[in-house]
Amino acid sequence: NKALRKAVIAGNWKMNNTRVETKALIEDLIPLAKDAGCDVVVCVPFTNLETAVNLTKGTNIKVGAQNCHFEAKGAFTGEISASMLTEMGVEYVVIGHSERRQYFGETDATVNKRLKAVIDAGMTAILCVGEMLEDRENGITEELVAMQTKIALGGVSKEDLSKVIIAYEPVWAIGTGKTATADQANEVCALIRATVEKLYDKEASDALTIQYGGSMNAGNAAELLSKPDVDGGLIGGASLKAPDFATIINAAS
Ligand code: PGA
Repeated sequence: NKALRKAVIAGNWKMNNTRVETKALIEDLIPLAKDAGCDVVVCVPFTNLETAVNLTKGTNIKVGAQNCHFEAKGAFTGEISASMLTEMGVEYVVIGHSERRQYFGETDATVNKRLKAVIDAGMTAILCVGEMLEDRENGITEELVAMQTKIALGGVSKEDLSKVIIAYEPVWAIGTGKTATADQANEVCALIRATVEKLYDKEASDALTIQYGGSMNAGNAAELLSKPDVDGGLIGGASLKAPDFATIINAAS
């Protein structure tokens, strides 16, 4: 029952936009998003967080980071801690994005630790799960996504689950222009919800926002978002253009 949960549209800018470009994009987005009937988040590079937080003050746009380390502090060159983010006014953090898993060696175990660090800091985690093309061809999508979900949520209480959004992102659909069909997206989002129901209960799974991500754009968002288990989107490429991102926000509202 979609009425039980919040629709959330989040932009994942990835490694795009300088500070100057960030200012321009957010200024364009503010008027376009102001009447949104869903939650709107922009997940920007670390170096743009302060700019984004300052520009969005007093608006309905929330700011997210794209990763965070699980330790509170210490000898972890190049990493950023959860408290460094909260101090800056960041409210969301993408965790376990497939690009982090593929290129930066993140595992289900480190994803679990990072997720808990984000929750403990009082932020909301956008936890990414999803299969590679090979997994889908081998017929293991369900097992794999269920396993990623279970390991990532290990040790997370039912109460803390309210600080988690799950994004189903089939890796073969990310940045490829090859979107999952609305039915494929819904099928796996429903599987994630069933997995969460088994781990917790129906109340918890009914309240969980599950996004689809992977080449969602202004043209296909409405159909994807019309599905019963798709509660929002995590949008890469199409979040870099204010009018396209606004069209997706409207489709979710
Ligand atoms: P895309 O990226 O929309 O460019 O496919 C989605 C994501 O990686 O979150």
